[in-house]
Amino acid sequence: MKSIINKVKNRERINLDEALKLYDLELLELGELASKIREEKFGKKSYFNINRHINPTNVCKDTCKFCAYSATRKNPNPYTMSIEEIVNTAKEAARRGAKEVHIVSAHNPEAGLNWYIDSFKKVKEALPNIHIKALTAAEIHFLATEYNRSYDEIIDLMIESGVDSMPGGGAEIFAEDIRDKICKGKVSSKDWLKIHEIWHSRGKKSNATMLFGHIESREDRVDHMLRLRELQDKTGGFNCFIPLVYQRENNYLKVEKFLTAKEILKTYAISRIVLDNIPNIKAYWATSTINLALLAQEFGANDLDGTIQKESIQSAAGAASANGMELEEFIGLIKNSGFIPVERDSLYNELKVW
Ligand code: SF4
Repeated sequence: MKSIINKVKNRERINLDEALKLYDLELLELGELASKIREEKFGKKSYFNINRHINPTNVCKDTCKFCAYSATRKNPNPYTMSIEEIVNTAKEAARRGAKEVHIVSAHNPEAGLNWYIDSFKKVKEALPNIHIKALTAAEIHFLATEYNRSYDEIIDLMIESGVDSMPGGGAEIFAEDIRDKICKGKVSSKDWLKIHEIWHSRGKKSNATMLFGHIESREDRVDHMLRLRELQDKTGGFNCFIPLVYQRENNYLKVEKFLTAKEILKTYAISRIVLDNIPNIKAYWATSTINLALLAQEFGANDLDGTIQKESIQSAAGAASANGMELEEFIGLIKNSGFIPVERDSLYNELKVW
């Protein structure tokens, strides 16, 4: 263990076995190792942005077991917004100060490719300065297969219609055996990574998530991080890694034992140590709870996402994010936890120290 700790302290890269051993460290010792790296890069700054999540449809042809959002799962209320509704929602968000709209949908085979693409075009026409973060790699894979297009073609359409960056969703867990059990039929791990690689090759940035706390092992988590690290070495296109804590309500995935807060914090810390080439680690409060996200700042996380305003996917499965959080409250919480709230834009340029 000593040699691994020394490697971390000397900022040397660690491998899968070494990362797994770090889970055996005492929580606070591990937290301190991760915290030192965070402090070197960001001091006491904690980033957030003023954003709005828009989830335009919950009709989905896929059947992920962990999903509580899709109308083909346990959600009894199918909906598909019109493009006008999407644009009006974005306008209202901008009026309330949002600088980013995060647009993520289910895989709706009835909506049509143009509905997806035109919604971005119209939002950009109405709000030329807003940053559009839209279409996960899973959605891109769905659109490509459903409408017989290549990934490149879908990405061309995204760029032409004003999409600025890609969110990190749909990664779930890369380990193929677990992926088969929780979201068979959805984009494969290999294709998820390939889509991000193409996106990065266009000079664009994206994020990467990891859904954990269900039936995966610690080894699956570290393997997931290592696959991201490998691609990041090639492209440098990931801005942020977002470990998403599995939400347990209203879905079909049987999970016997839920993670302790200790295990969640250790996973944040290990991601900060393993992912030496992805600058930002986000504690997405919508899935971790705001209290744990604030604590995660001491375990390597330097980003708390944003005010969200409204969110439908995680909240369908039990997360307390349905109505986002007021800006003043959010800032107050960061300050009271001993960190400096810094508003950032979607590409991590600093906008304002609050
Ligand atoms: S997680 Fe996404 S792709 Fe899977 S069923 Fe739910 S909405 Fe569809």
